[in-house]
Amino acid sequence: MTDPVCKMEINREDAEASSEYNGQTYYFCSEECKESFDKRPEKYVERGKKAASGGR
Ligand SMILES: [Zn+2]
Repeated sequence: MTDPVCKMEINREDAEASSEYNGQTYYFCSEECKESFDKRPEKYVERGKKAASGGR
């Protein structure tokens, strides 16, 4: 999966932090990325693009 803030490819096991938004869980490479996301999630979530299923 991809860190929505810095677009880095990360494995769920390697994720330092995660956050839920709109019923989806997002994973981040660092707490910094999570904080940026939590401040403005709508800035990072791609709109108009359907998220692939199987995010669990
Ligand atoms: Zn990141």
